[in-house]
Amino acid sequence: RRHSSADRSLTARLSAAKRRQAMRGPAYMFSAPSFSLSEVEQRFLEAAEYGNIPEVRRMLLHIPNLNVNAVDYMGQNALQLAVANEHLEVTELLLGRADLARVGDALLLAISKGYVRITEALLSHPSFRDAHRLTASPAQVDMLDDFYAYDEDGTRFSHDVTPVILAAHCQEYEIVHTLLSKGARIDPPHDYFCGCDSCNYQQQYDSFSHSRSRINAYRGLASPAYLSLSSEDPVLAALELSNELAMLADIEKEFKNDYSRLSNQCKDYVVGLLDLCRSTEEVEAILNGETVSDDSFDMPGRPSLTRLKLAIKYELKKFVAHPNCQQQLLSIWYENLPGLRQQTTAVKLLVVLAVAIGLPGLAVAYWVTPCSRTA
Ligand SMILES: [Zn+2]
Repeated sequence: RRHSSADRSLTARLSAAKRRQAMRGPAYMFSAPSFSLSEVEQRFLEAAEYGNIPEVRRMLLHIPNLNVNAVDYMGQNALQLAVANEHLEVTELLLGRADLARVGDALLLAISKGYVRITEALLSHPSFRDAHRLTASPAQVDMLDDFYAYDEDGTRFSHDVTPVILAAHCQEYEIVHTLLSKGARIDPPHDYFCGCDSCNYQQQYDSFSHSRSRINAYRGLASPAYLSLSSEDPVLAALELSNELAMLADIEKEFKNDYSRLSNQCKDYVVGLLDLCRSTEEVEAILNGETVSDDSFDMPGRPSLTRLKLAIKYELKKFVAHPNCQQQLLSIWYENLPGLRQQTTAVKLLVVLAVAIGLPGLAVAYWVTPCSRTA
């Protein structure tokens, strides 16, 4: 019952959203928000948008009750405008204000545009000092404050997209690395048939966004950036994820294409790793994995090929047929007779014949001294 408090806050938040929506009616999605900006606010927003650093600094210093959270007709505040136009210094000036809202939205915006330095500036904001902000999914984060304005006008990210999921979607290695080092993770979605309170509630409340949040999470998990940076053993993680996604493609028929595509993406990732190998040692590392094999059939000193066996089990043909993999298998096949590989077919046939004739003798030799050179 570790989720219970998060579930309760989620329930409260969802019912609040429902009430708000009922109050406004469905038309709120299409009607323009009524807004009015004072002349000062307008100037402030423009200065932020065009990166007018001295003007922003002057206004922040000398106008005592300046509303830094004023929004323009598109529903964007000064921080979002500055971030959208890659004005790092204006962003830093604005971040100095304690009453700044929508830092979360600005962070998502910066990540989606791949602005690494602005992302880092935003992450150094005091509101991220509470590590919970990044580690919990937005559904769990208490959003009574104006941190994320997801459901208000002027933002294009859905509720279930966390900073780390977005960075993974956008293949921003550097940002994913930064977020991971701050403790952010992508929570694997619950089982499709999961019957816990949270899943039941989301399924009933909005089954579309429930399915979409699952796909978004899997898209993040399957992205090469996240696979490479988040796990100690990316090959194993990618193999298992590809298998899980292939099974989901069979279960969730309506999203079959999405899940199949993600499953293939994981497979391509593993094949891509094989492509990058520069030496036998690296190929061996990928094919064998690092785990100590407890398979009693394995010969000591012989590569275990754990990952390769897993790839065969998961029907990963491209991986098994990869030249680097086949080359490795051939060298294992010809292990004790290295010269044989270069011989003609006739010589090979002769050797096979000789071994076949000598087999009884060899069997006896193996019986007597199982670990000798000839056996
Ligand atoms: Zn569940």
